[in-house]
Amino acid sequence: MIIAVLAVQGDFAEHENIFRLLGYQTVQLRQKSDLFQQFDALVLPGGESTVQGKLLRDLDMFEELRSRIGSGLPVMATCAGTILLAKQLLDDPTIHFGTMNIAVRRNAYGRQLSSFHIDGEFGDLNDVPMSFIRAPQIEFCSPDTEVLSEYQGRITAVRQKNQLAMTFHPELGTDVRIAEYFIRDIVVPAMSQTEKR
Ligand code: GLN
Repeated sequence: MIIAVLAVQGDFAEHENIFRLLGYQTVQLRQKSDLFQQFDALVLPGGESTVQGKLLRDLDMFEELRSRIGSGLPVMATCAGTILLAKQLLDDPTIHFGTMNIAVRRNAYGRQLSSFHIDGEFGDLNDVPMSFIRAPQIEFCSPDTEVLSEYQGRITAVRQKNQLAMTFHPELGTDVRIAEYFIRDIVVPAMSQTEKR
């Protein structure tokens, strides 16, 4: 199994570190030709969604990635990555991939609380370290999504079939459990589907 990490901007190295701790091979997607190597899943890291969206278009990576996500490529997005997946941005006419039925507000926690850390719940997992850094908020999600995590009444992680989106960063330490969840519940089933075809 090979995990690709979008590496045009943001904290892609931290994600690679987590998947390597789990023993998986990772590859960086930096330019269009990188998209045509073998990989089984995609990580969209945190960073700055405006910059990432622009670079993806300038580097001509955008359409290929959007079509692969739309056709079922397993994707795990954190923070800016979640903004890239959202079908709607509140207070912002921009849409990037728009593959996920969520409406997201950027920088939703205001200046005072722009960055904080909690130990939260995610699905069946407890005490998961979660860093919120100028985090967005998922304000709406459609019934075909599954809410996996909430904090103070705000949705912080959602899954829709092959797509997992979080508003926090789970990758900044060495806790590998969310990456394990992604592999076990999304990537492995998707790979066995492909084999059956
Ligand atoms: N505020 C950033 C954005 O709008 C996201 C921050 C992050 O990825 N930690 O893209």
